Amino acid sequence: MQALELVNLVNGMHILKLIPQDPDYNEATFDIAFLTPPENSMGLPHIAEHSVLCDSQNFNLKEPYQILSQQSLETYLNAGTYSEHTVYPFATRNEQDFYNIMEVYLDAVFNPRIHQDELIFMQEGHHFVIDDCKLQHQGVVLNEMKGAFSDHQRIGVTAVDSLMFKDGSMKHVSGGLPEQIVNSTPEDLKQFHKKHYSTDNSFLVLVSKFPLEKELKLVTKYTKQAFRGKITPVVKQQQRIKEFKQIEFSTTESQDQIYLNGYRLFDNDSVTAMEFVAHNVLDQLIHDSPASLFKSALGGSFSTIFDYSNAQAMVCSTLSGTTYSHAEAQQIIENIYKDLQENSDYLNYNSLRACLNNFEFRYKEVRDHHGIAIANKVFRSWLYGGTYDKFSNNRTQLTI
Ligand SMILES: [Zn+2]
Repeated sequence: MQALELVNLVNGMHILKLIPQDPDYNEATFDIAFLTPPENSMGLPHIAEHSVLCDSQNFNLKEPYQILSQQSLETYLNAGTYSEHTVYPFATRNEQDFYNIMEVYLDAVFNPRIHQDELIFMQEGHHFVIDDCKLQHQGVVLNEMKGAFSDHQRIGVTAVDSLMFKDGSMKHVSGGLPEQIVNSTPEDLKQFHKKHYSTDNSFLVLVSKFPLEKELKLVTKYTKQAFRGKITPVVKQQQRIKEFKQIEFSTTESQDQIYLNGYRLFDNDSVTAMEFVAHNVLDQLIHDSPASLFKSALGGSFSTIFDYSNAQAMVCSTLSGTTYSHAEAQQIIENIYKDLQENSDYLNYNSLRACLNNFEFRYKEVRDHHGIAIANKVFRSWLYGGTYDKFSNNRTQLTI
């Protein structure tokens, strides 16, 4: 891909234009991201993600996904709240469709009607209803997070995160904790939008063969009235915690005992692209492969979440349905990690080669929404002060 990185000197907006060189590549991608590190667990990044798409100065879209998916030729349409940033991606193969959806998305993020219409906050965040003579809290995000936190694994991972990142942005839940979402106000949402959805804090990736001039014209049109932030949001990074920490949490009594084990891995800005891929390969080999030592040694159900989409990567494993006590399971896990460092048998040439082949295949495979995947890799470094191509360059060589 040919790349052009631009910074708007007037409003500070960051733009990356990638032009696919493959003549058969015919999908165009737009993905705009904002750094939105949470300062509490009221779910403001999540409420903002929902609310800006509800209504904007130039477009009135009460149900944008439904309308756009019915009236456009999009091949991908989404919005997402990560732990420390928020994204608004879409893809299409039609040029006019690309400009049309681009206008809707740009107007939504930079000129939403949340500043004039507090009903949007109430609908998406929370409001009271009278149900069966009782006053009850409702709201799209509130209900979504109530559902998410009815899952005991989600409760556990959140507890582990709050321990591992006790002084960092990641100790807060960007999606919102139900008991804290109800404390948020329309004013909080307005202030959050003003601070985080400023042009200086916006990072736009365009992967298309369409003329850049036309794309920039639309960007200029919809950022004219946008906020320009004086303060850039700061992602609070967590210093390494050396000692082992343990926490107990309870969900409902009927559920099985589960045991979660979290490790901080690396900071995105301190690893090379090669080390980053090596971490991916190791995670796959050690935790995820059918031959994983953990799976055979612990019994029960063992799964891991390897999260590297934020400034600081972590891995969290969950064990349930095992006959081992927590202390025994902890000991087994520690022994396996120690053994892996000292005993080269497990990480032998053949198992690593098989795993690398699998990765190589996935990297080379031309999939749908390739542009979205590239934008995600770009954001991993670009949003956090690194270069846009640190993790998006597929030519990283791994040797074993
Ligand atoms: Zn949501």
